[in-house]
Amino acid sequence: MLSNIVPLCSGVVVEVKKMINVIFIFQAKYVISAIPPTLTTKIHFNPELPPIRNQLIQRLPMGSVIKTMMYYKEPFWRKLDYCGAMFIDDDNTPVEIALDDTKPDGSCPAIMGFILSRRASALTNLTKEERKKRICEYYAKAMGTEKALHPIHYEEKNWCEEQYSGGCYTAYFPPGVMTQYGSVIRQPVGKLYFAGTETATQWSGYMEGAVQAGERAAREIMCKMGLIPENEIWLPEPESVDVPALPFHRSFLERNLPSARGFVRFIGCSTFLASAAVLGLFAYKKGFITRV
Ligand SMILES: Cc1cc2nc3c(=O)[nH]c(=O)nc-3n(C[C@H](O)[C@H](O)[C@H](O)COP(=O)(O)OP(=O)(O)OC[C@H]3O[C@@H](n4cnc5c(N)ncnc54)[C@H](O)[C@@H]3O)c2cc1C
Repeated sequence: MLSNIVPLCSGVVVEVKKMINVIFIFQAKYVISAIPPTLTTKIHFNPELPPIRNQLIQRLPMGSVIKTMMYYKEPFWRKLDYCGAMFIDDDNTPVEIALDDTKPDGSCPAIMGFILSRRASALTNLTKEERKKRICEYYAKAMGTEKALHPIHYEEKNWCEEQYSGGCYTAYFPPGVMTQYGSVIRQPVGKLYFAGTETATQWSGYMEGAVQAGERAAREIMCKMGLIPENEIWLPEPESVDVPALPFHRSFLERNLPSARGFVRFIGCSTFLASAAVLGLFAYKKGFITRV
């Protein structure tokens, strides 16, 4: 575990604590930290991080996810003509998103399900067996078959308990954090540079984002070392040959319809104005208000 980062005139010293009293020391010209921002609060920096970065890393919590794998004797859902992908919209379901995770050769029939966000926090104190039972009940309800109630094996991984991940899939920005502190997320501190999926400008939170960020941080250092010009730090992603990017085509209505919130506000305002006009007319007719 990285425990200490100390800058030198000629580079940086990184101390890694392996076990009690066993410390490895590395010296480098530059360092890239690709650790989720909040986990860098466990590292001692000398000198201290600049104030905004120090505050930013305290404000980016990791998401809450429990990944579950339900194994069955056979992929019974396929016989029912279901693909096994489920988006379960119910306040009490543990799993909202599930996918058929049977191996391509048909072995190990399984359904993978994510217990997400507040559900993960709410169900974390149940026993593994209780979570398994609840998930099966919802798979049975969603697919309309009791076969889902009889898995042959169950595995789960609660990512919230991982001390070197802190949760998953990634860090999230609570309201206000991006605008107040976000500008420093990629800003190097001396010879310390920052990568990790959270610092990506595309696919942040995904593997692609982690790769983009790692390559960008490496190029930042290459630029600093005079190996590449500054305009080569941000290279555009090469276009995928197999899956070329296609634009979304949206109709006039799709482009111009108000959002649900906008629509409700519009109705609210219109109702308020219409009521005010009717009341005004009524008051005028009854002589409560007069023309001046
Ligand atoms: C269950 C799950 C499912 C996911 N599914 C997908 C998916 O389908 N597609 C997709 O694109 N992405 C998915 N992701 C997200 C993807 O895994 C991450 O976006 C990606 O791994 C981020 O890479 P990273 O290098 O930024 O960070 P990480 O992979 O988190 O690597 C950070 C590393 O830092 C190490 N570390 C932490 N603290 C210290 C310390 N003090 N000292 C030294 N090392 C430390 C950690 O051990 C870890 O190895 C999933 C993630 C999870 C957890």
